[in-house]
Amino acid sequence: MSTVYVRSAEYNYSTLKPLIFGLMESLGSSLIQKGSRVVIKPNLLAPAPPEKAVVTHPLVVRALVEYVLENGGEPMISDSPAVGSIEKVLRESGIKDALAGLKVSVAEFKEPCRVDVGEPFKKIEIAAEAVNADVLINVPKLKTHTQMLLTLGIKNLFGCIIGLKKPEWHLRAGVDREMFARLLVKIYAAVSPAITILDGILAMEGQGPGKGGTPRKLGVVMASTNTAALDRAACMMLGIEPGTVLTNKIALEQGLVKPDIVIDGEAGKIDNFILPEITQLVFGPDLIHGVLRRHLTQRPVCTDSLCKYCGECWKYCPAEAITPEKNKIHFDYDKCIRCYCCIEVCPHGALQAKETLIAKAARKVLKM
Ligand code: SF4
Ligand code: SF4
Repeated sequence: MSTVYVRSAEYNYSTLKPLIFGLMESLGSSLIQKGSRVVIKPNLLAPAPPEKAVVTHPLVVRALVEYVLENGGEPMISDSPAVGSIEKVLRESGIKDALAGLKVSVAEFKEPCRVDVGEPFKKIEIAAEAVNADVLINVPKLKTHTQMLLTLGIKNLFGCIIGLKKPEWHLRAGVDREMFARLLVKIYAAVSPAITILDGILAMEGQGPGKGGTPRKLGVVMASTNTAALDRAACMMLGIEPGTVLTNKIALEQGLVKPDIVIDGEAGKIDNFILPEITQLVFGPDLIHGVLRRHLTQRPVCTDSLCKYCGECWKYCPAEAITPEKNKIHFDYDKCIRCYCCIEVCPHGALQAKETLIAKAARKVLKM
């Protein structure tokens, strides 16, 4: 049975540092030896200040770096941000300042290595830095996710897929959430983080995981050596049946976690946590799925007054379904695979997933 540690916490370094150190001691202080290459993988989705709750908080990252250094390890902060360079994300998130004076290296995941993860994906390219680390510490942020409902420990590891390979995978697994969740679980099994520490102090609810979401103070840190167990425990804390997050369902099916989890600490229930609006990608009779998918699934739409015409969405769109047109963006909904990556990467919170009028009417008729 896996243990998940749950602690009340706030972003006050005099209390947060001993708390993180205590968790690391409980999880396996012997993991880090003198000279161990320790990769710390926060959620560095996009440049955003800490109060937006888009990235893992700087003080959580600092405490982990200090712990690694004090135990003789060689820490490296790595990720493959969806938007901007890692340097820009670290600067704007405050992580760079928080790490001032500490001997830590920073490197975007760049070196791919091919790992055979089995059917149906076979060999996929994952960041060699993550695969070959002596110790990988996964440091997700607790956030909602318009495609996968929540982004927790397993989803955070999608950052181990390098840069432009990410939209490619979205394109291949995009319209099929279950397939995408299978891919995420395969990546998790391949990189196998030794420790996962979830920053849920200032979390995100609503239309996450980018700036369209709403920060929500939960005041909690969770930690475990089993990422899948931690994700299940986080769902329970939020009052969500764990199996509704597809990565949880698949990790359970694949024997990566048992349903019984030992909680060490106070796992208080969080009330009224606002989930993103997600509609099933496909519903109704099989024969008309193609038509339904095009007309009835939620579409990305742009609030023109918020759009800064920065180009992040059309650069990232894996289906090339977005084009700039006279200071407006245009979606080709026939090409769009409804992966919602554009919503995730928009730095100005201008994009949202919205249901069409036809979909609303169809749902009533089909009683979905
Ligand atoms: S929708 Fe967002 S990402 Fe796209 S151009 Fe406008 S501001 Fe940039
Ligand atoms: S338009 Fe948005 S939702 Fe559609 S394929 Fe492109 S990134 Fe994905």
